[in-house]
Amino acid sequence: MSNQRRDFLRNAAASAVVAGSGILSGRTLAAAPASEALVTRSAPQRVIALEEHFILPEFVDYLAETKQNIRPELFDKVVPVLSDFGTGRLKVMDKNGVDFAVLSLSGPGVQIEPDTARAVRLARYANDRLATEIAKQPTRYGGFAHLAMQDPKAAADELERCVKQLKFQGGMINGETLGVYLDDRRYDVFWQRVEQLGVAIYLHPGNPPDRPHMYQDHPDMWGPTWSWAVETCSHAMRLIFSGTFDRFPGAKIILGHMGETLPIQLWRLDSRLKISNAKYQIKREPSWYVRNNIAITTSGVCSDSALRCALEAMGRDNVMFSIDYPFESSETAVKWLREADVSDADRQAVAWRNAARILKL
Ligand code: MN
Repeated sequence: MSNQRRDFLRNAAASAVVAGSGILSGRTLAAAPASEALVTRSAPQRVIALEEHFILPEFVDYLAETKQNIRPELFDKVVPVLSDFGTGRLKVMDKNGVDFAVLSLSGPGVQIEPDTARAVRLARYANDRLATEIAKQPTRYGGFAHLAMQDPKAAADELERCVKQLKFQGGMINGETLGVYLDDRRYDVFWQRVEQLGVAIYLHPGNPPDRPHMYQDHPDMWGPTWSWAVETCSHAMRLIFSGTFDRFPGAKIILGHMGETLPIQLWRLDSRLKISNAKYQIKREPSWYVRNNIAITTSGVCSDSALRCALEAMGRDNVMFSIDYPFESSETAVKWLREADVSDADRQAVAWRNAARILKL
């Protein structure tokens, strides 16, 4: 038996023991066909992940909005894991070979807070707390700013403080804020600052302000299964179709979950916009903005075919690895990254090179 084959079997056995060990992992690793054991792939030189969440005691109540999306007994298990910045989190990273994690508050956080002053105050508090944790592990953790989008100017100022003083990598926004989407002109002040700072904004899913009739009697479709992709991809469409990226060409957003279905839609978006009742005239075809103003992560989608589509549609420079810890299994995600059927140049780009460039790490 070759060494490669022996290693494969040993790894496969180890995987079987801990398969599905992600807190909310509903899947187990499929056994690889025997022939794959002989395929040599270069390991990622580094692994950077950037949709990796935490929670603080003051923000657990806001999680109730997300809690409705999944089975309650699973959700309760996740809070202690989210709350740990130390040994538990680092152990999972070390065991799976994750070198660096950009941490973000598990949503929706203060974005559902009706009191704007309180939202602004708590967002600042969350960012200071995160900075304290990053300072303890500066070679392992980075951060995305939590932002009170109820006050666009305050959000812009807080983003600037987080980037310049706390050395964060950008910001994360959990969908709409009290019914307002980011293409609203009141956010021009925010996008202008994003452009000036040269950082990316991770547009993370959140629930919409209303519950469309289409989801009636289907709690199974609500949340990460389906409605989050519709909501978040539509949010990105609003930014494109409203000309936000014409006004702020240097603004960049990041979409998780392999682009929330966006990579497969580009041809049709370009084709059908031409016959639509467009309200705004945008300068270029939608796919151009997707490739120039949007990057995506692989969080929660460990699929070779989806990755190849994303790389081809978005361009190799625009796809980054992520896990969505602790809602997804780190082991499943990293094992897939190592073995995915893409070129080794693509694998290095996805594993760390693009994140290092886009997040200026
Ligand atoms: Mn997430």
